[in-house]
Amino acid sequence: MRQVKLGLWGPEISEVCFGSLAISPLQGRVTEEEGMLVLKYALEQGVNWIDTAEIYDNYGQIASVIKAYPDVRIVSKTYAVSAKEMYVSLEKARTALNRDTLDFFLLHEQESALTLKGHSEAWEELLIAKQKGIVRWIGISTHAVAGVRAGALQPGLDVIHPILNYQGLGIIDGNLPDMLEAISFASELGIGIYAMKVFGGGHLTNDPEKAVEFVHRVPGIQAMALGMSSREEVDYNLRLVSGQKIPSELREKVKHRKRKLYVADWCQGCGLCIDACPQGALQLEKIAVVNDKACVLCGYCGRACPHFCLKIV
Ligand code: SF4
Ligand code: SF4
Repeated sequence: MRQVKLGLWGPEISEVCFGSLAISPLQGRVTEEEGMLVLKYALEQGVNWIDTAEIYDNYGQIASVIKAYPDVRIVSKTYAVSAKEMYVSLEKARTALNRDTLDFFLLHEQESALTLKGHSEAWEELLIAKQKGIVRWIGISTHAVAGVRAGALQPGLDVIHPILNYQGLGIIDGNLPDMLEAISFASELGIGIYAMKVFGGGHLTNDPEKAVEFVHRVPGIQAMALGMSSREEVDYNLRLVSGQKIPSELREKVKHRKRKLYVADWCQGCGLCIDACPQGALQLEKIAVVNDKACVLCGYCGRACPHFCLKIV
């Protein structure tokens, strides 16, 4: 697989990062063991870095697989606000992933300069961890144009993981041209950038070639995280990204099943999930109701529901 350099001072990594949300309990598409086999298969095919997050709750799953792949790099993310919370997040990742040194650690879902300011203590702690050699590269993930712009100016930041797809789906504060401009600005500063939601959370799977080609052509983007929950999806995605023809049997097997967020009929209408959705895709009408057009199937709302009503099916 093609190796790329992540920004001016980032490492060489495969163009595809394994998006482990798709094998995590948060999305619940596969069992833990099935997910481990898919991840192992992807690593055997040359994918050499994995995207995860504290909330994906799958450090153990990843740790079991990477035992045999000590050079595979891991990105994790945290919602930590205070220095103490960041310290706890870092220690949790180091222990659970069984790695003394973490490769990448990001502040999760930063929306703007204001959000970053609110997380300044956590960022300072991350900078200290970087100085001590506990983390190699630090950054943010974001669904917002203002998040990319603010991240680019954040002292010590190495990497940004923004949402990007050819329809601009999931951008919470602007449109596609705005996001491209922000990405260009960040990349000119030497920041490493890898895209998320290239297929728009499943909305753009009718033309996957177009979705991948679009991200390929954005000059500031070096790599992309792709969620995969079966061997066939691994084969399919790796072929897509390397521009190889996809055999019709494989295309048929992977035929992106239309997924959606399902709200169980035992929903209590408590509304706790509404604020948990970064896309504003949930509203309360006696029970929680999903706007399928706005939902990018991230699964983040699921953890907010005390009654386990939300599931991607
Ligand atoms: S409704 Fe849930 S799955 Fe859909 S975008 Fe919002 S948080 Fe993500
Ligand atoms: S948090 Fe769960 S129970 Fe409450 S409104 Fe949302 S889906 Fe329903």
